[in-house]
Amino acid sequence: MGSEKQGTAVTSFQPPFKKLGSCEKECVKVHEGVHTSTCKQFGPVVLGAAGIGELDEAAAYMAEAVCLAKAANNGFIDADKEFSKYGPLPQP
Ligand SMILES: [Zn+2]
Repeated sequence: MGSEKQGTAVTSFQPPFKKLGSCEKECVKVHEGVHTSTCKQFGPVVLGAAGIGELDEAAAYMAEAVCLAKAANNGFIDADKEFSKYGPLPQP
């Protein structure tokens, strides 16, 4: 019943982002991409709602940590390619 509105996920990168190194920047995109992808699948979540917000953050940090580990192992990371399952990743 009723009509469903299709929203748009918008990510804003705050100024401290510019101070990060290139791999850190790539992995922040992965972190935000997990949020975007979760939001598209399940709709927006409210921080503090039965721990769901924390779960959302945990999943995002886990993917970010994997990204940083891959970057450390390889000396570089192409987040858009390696984490395309969460893509298109938000771009700063
Ligand atoms: Zn987050």
